[in-house]
Amino acid sequence: MIRSIDKDGTSFYAYTTEKGTNNFICPVCKHDVILKKGKIKIHHFSHKVKSECINQGETQLHLQTKLAVYNHLKANKDVSKLMMERNLKQVIPDVSFLYKGNYIAIEIQHSNITNELINKRMAHYRNKNIFVLWVIPDDIKYIKDQEENCVSPRLWQKHLHTMYFGNIFYIKNNIIDAYKYSGYTLNVPYGEWYEQGGEHIEVGGYDKWSKRYRTLEKKLLNCDILNNFKAVIRPTYKNIPQCKIWTLKN
Ligand SMILES: [Zn+2]
Repeated sequence: MIRSIDKDGTSFYAYTTEKGTNNFICPVCKHDVILKKGKIKIHHFSHKVKSECINQGETQLHLQTKLAVYNHLKANKDVSKLMMERNLKQVIPDVSFLYKGNYIAIEIQHSNITNELINKRMAHYRNKNIFVLWVIPDDIKYIKDQEENCVSPRLWQKHLHTMYFGNIFYIKNNIIDAYKYSGYTLNVPYGEWYEQGGEHIEVGGYDKWSKRYRTLEKKLLNCDILNNFKAVIRPTYKNIPQCKIWTLKN
């Protein structure tokens, strides 16, 4: 985690905090945390004692991306109430803020997650009237074949793709690239032979849609989190209950 609090509830971000006399605690479980300010890793807090707290376990890339998004938004005068890891009890958005009348949350997803958990979090956000953008650090595209732009997306990535009307958002620092998964065809090679009775058998020689692979199609590169997105109430569709999304403008 990047943000801790003290006993009065004041926030401290790891990169602007010096080691000192403060007793830092986790905003979620309220247990003691330690400030880690090394030379290599992103400055962060970690629980003093191993715990089951949900506010932990993020990768370095996750922390780095969160920080980049936060710093980018901080420079915009239309953004207010900006915070990292806001404790909303059931959900802890990586970055959340108010922009032109809409509350927006950025969820950076850098590990596997179930579709059920995504839906559950979206229900909490919907009830709190927050529009959500899920972004995926650029290194987990699951590329199978670079030349053919062939990827092997995980179930949760396909779920997000459907949720955002056929968009998947990869992020590098604060820059977002919007892609679309489209069908990928596999060739079934042609073969022929004669059965013992003399019957001529022919197989294959055609293309079929792959269940596993998708072609990654560019939609819009270098998107800005504010300028290229809009708030949309997404109606229920298949296994996606009604939710509030911050999604690509048409
Ligand atoms: Zn905790």
